[in-house]
Amino acid sequence: MVKILQHLPEGLLDLPASELHTRIGDHTLIHLDGKIKRPVFVSILQHGDEHTGWDALRDYLRNHLQHGLPRNLIVLFGNIQAAARNVRKLPDQPDFNRRWPGQRIPDDAIARRLRAITEKMQQANLFASVDIHNNSGRNPHYSGINRLDKPFLNLASLFSSRMIYFTSPDGIQSSAFSRFCPAITVESGLSGTADGREQTHTFLELLMTQTNLEHVPGILEHPEIYRVFATVKVRPGTRFRIGEADQSRESAFIIRKDLDFLNFQHADAGTVFGWADGDMPLLVQDQQGRDITEDWFALKHGRVQLRQAAVPAMITQKTQAILDDSLCYLMQAVHPNTLNQITQEITQEEIA
Ligand SMILES: [Zn+2]
Repeated sequence: MVKILQHLPEGLLDLPASELHTRIGDHTLIHLDGKIKRPVFVSILQHGDEHTGWDALRDYLRNHLQHGLPRNLIVLFGNIQAAARNVRKLPDQPDFNRRWPGQRIPDDAIARRLRAITEKMQQANLFASVDIHNNSGRNPHYSGINRLDKPFLNLASLFSSRMIYFTSPDGIQSSAFSRFCPAITVESGLSGTADGREQTHTFLELLMTQTNLEHVPGILEHPEIYRVFATVKVRPGTRFRIGEADQSRESAFIIRKDLDFLNFQHADAGTVFGWADGDMPLLVQDQQGRDITEDWFALKHGRVQLRQAAVPAMITQKTQAILDDSLCYLMQAVHPNTLNQITQEITQEEIA
């Protein structure tokens, strides 16, 4: 069911993401031997239009294959069929990064396959797990963690001092692997940009030579940590488009065109997200899925605006991404000195 290769197929490194399907299938695992035996797990292309992971990994492997890898590496190729068409997923597929073992995962073929991979990897004594993605809007590079323990913070810091802590959505890879090894989601900006590829490559170089994630000297000096507390969606059934206020109103909801400038910025109360007639077009849910729209957004004189200050992230300006997933997340900055307190709060929430 899960295809495992013990070597790189001939010529694979020469292929762009869109041509990988000519050699390998969805969810192929490739094990590569290195000096240190505990493997690093790298997942790429879970979303078929997010190529930076493959491009950075190709750069990394080209640098090292001749003289050998410093450590064992396991690569998981995600949605290769979607990559062939440069789309997040094919119309008849579920989102591959919403089917990993979690709270309430539908029991379909993809979920069963991902469960099998998770069980296999749990046996593999992984040193760390990294799932590489791109954003569909302009965002600074950052990583996502699902636990606030030191090895997770250190692993994230190898990529960027900017990181977000989140516990929703359900069924994502980093969250599933967090139960048995330090795991992060890496967000390398827009797909195809040179700076994202370079930063991800540098990160792989650093990670593969670490011997210990409990103590990484000098790495975690000024972490910029945010905690996601809400997901913002367009209410199901609402017609919307991306645009400007003064354009003719053929949509019920117009999302401000330059909204992604707000990513990782402190947005004050009153910040306008868009314009709407009639009902509140946004749906804001906390990490447990409760509707908290009224606390966070107001509709005043046709303007959809923030009711309280927040830091938005992952604002997308792609209609399909908004329909499939969400418009953005809302976050609060976490002071590093309060990490312990927050971990306790989270544990209490989980018990509740
Ligand atoms: Zn993605």
